[in-house]
Amino acid sequence: MSQKTHIARTDPFRWEGVPVLAYKEDPGSHFKSISRQVLFDDGKHFGAQLRYFEIAPGGHSTLERHDHAHSVMVIRGAGRALVGSEILDLRTHDLVRVPPQAWHQFRATGDEPLGFLCLVRSERDKPRMPTPEDLREMGSDGNVGAFIRT
Ligand code: MN
Repeated sequence: MSQKTHIARTDPFRWEGVPVLAYKEDPGSHFKSISRQVLFDDGKHFGAQLRYFEIAPGGHSTLERHDHAHSVMVIRGAGRALVGSEILDLRTHDLVRVPPQAWHQFRATGDEPLGFLCLVRSERDKPRMPTPEDLREMGSDGNVGAFIRT
């Protein structure tokens, strides 16, 4: 991770020396067309990481929950998200708060990728995927059931 003072943008939504990574290494988690870039990894000073995720049109993130929280800012495109039992319509520059243990999933809508910054603490628990029982419970809310991708 670069400790440079200024990390210049190269292409739009790409930065000098910041690799574009696979979203998750865990092959058990279900997702589609999404990349991850770690912009700041300043655990020593802030105990936090700032990541940039990009979901291609038609793609989605893992449906998951965990003890740690996320603070999200959309900086590219548009999309929708499930947070808890709410389904949100997202536009560029919207903010999203994902509290601990809230089920969440992001999806790109439209022709452009959905890109968002996501602030997370460095020391954190692993995301948990829904069990069949969790899915049944989520499905009892018709809107949520229709939204989620697994
Ligand atoms: Mn998460």
